[in-house]
Amino acid sequence: MFSFKVTHTEGAARRGVMTTAHGDVETPAFMPVGTQGAVKGVTHRDLESVGAQILLANTYHLYLRPGDELIARRGGLHAFIGWSKPILTDSGGYQVFSLASRRKITEDGAHFQSHLDGSPHLLTPEKAADIQANLGSDIAMVFDECLAHPADAASARASMERTLRWAKRGRDRFLQHREQPALSELAKVRGERVEGAQFGIVQGSVFPDLREESAERTVEIGFDAYAIGGLSVGEPTDVMYDMVGRTTPKLPLDLPRYLMGAGTPEDLVEAVARGVDLFDCVLPTRNGRNGQLFTSEGRLNIKNARYAEDDRPPDPACQCYTCQTCSRAYLRHLFAVGELNAGTLNTLHNLHFYLDTLRRIRESLTFGRFESFRLLFHESLSRQLQDP
Ligand SMILES: [Zn+2]
Repeated sequence: MFSFKVTHTEGAARRGVMTTAHGDVETPAFMPVGTQGAVKGVTHRDLESVGAQILLANTYHLYLRPGDELIARRGGLHAFIGWSKPILTDSGGYQVFSLASRRKITEDGAHFQSHLDGSPHLLTPEKAADIQANLGSDIAMVFDECLAHPADAASARASMERTLRWAKRGRDRFLQHREQPALSELAKVRGERVEGAQFGIVQGSVFPDLREESAERTVEIGFDAYAIGGLSVGEPTDVMYDMVGRTTPKLPLDLPRYLMGAGTPEDLVEAVARGVDLFDCVLPTRNGRNGQLFTSEGRLNIKNARYAEDDRPPDPACQCYTCQTCSRAYLRHLFAVGELNAGTLNTLHNLHFYLDTLRRIRESLTFGRFESFRLLFHESLSRQLQDP
């Protein structure tokens, strides 16, 4: 049920279509982050209205609450949250490394205490595959070790080697689920095999030779597609672009490539230029709730006093509901008084901006005009207002 077709290319950039059990995703694509099975502050209806094609949900959070078995008994994550389009779930690893109150990494996996109640848990490559099978993800991510930045070459190598060993275990378990559907609670509830794909993850910190080796050896294990992990974690932007540019040529041409957790609108355009097809990032949603809007004229901080009597929409070039109905003055007021609508309206605009940027990228690729789009996009963002 999983396939990918590249329809247009320009340099390393590609336009394509990724097919999953819950429908097609036109790439390059951006996935809004729905941590708890919802994108904070907006409804699924809003997401559809801004053109979201696929949602990312967080395994760590859903495993702790309400639990993957409870979700399986409701028919899986799509049925539980009422979203009929594709869903990608992360492996839970990143959250264990960043949220859990106490964690200890052994060869077996990550031992941690829940950030909610301190209860002890063990997340292994096998367990991460099991949880995602219960969720019924269209795309499951393999469990990897998330190394902190900066790391020295020796620890980056050790971590990359462990990630490769975990990748093999995670892949084996995923394939076991394909062979024996009854292993998952969800397949038992539904009485049928649940179709999904699993992506491997390239690591290697900021060391070019490790990145290249990690890509080659992860591809040898054989996943349905590949992601680039461990970037956008505090390294300089040019280093991130360099790592992406060195990794994508080592990945199969005919499979999608996913850059995890990145980034700013500029990052997305630059990663597409280096052959990336899929993105997720909390920036549009988190920054929206904090009053920062991404616009075609740069970033706009709605808290700023200078917008108190500004009757213009946040982004005059934007067609979203927020820009069609709200002035900067009104949005600033809503934010200042702590109105729930402030988060909703800002998030809606930011997601529209991100998704529309990807739509314009796809269009430019269709007509062989990506390079000129890229130049104009950077020019427009750099010459305009940049609020603190
Ligand atoms: Zn807008």
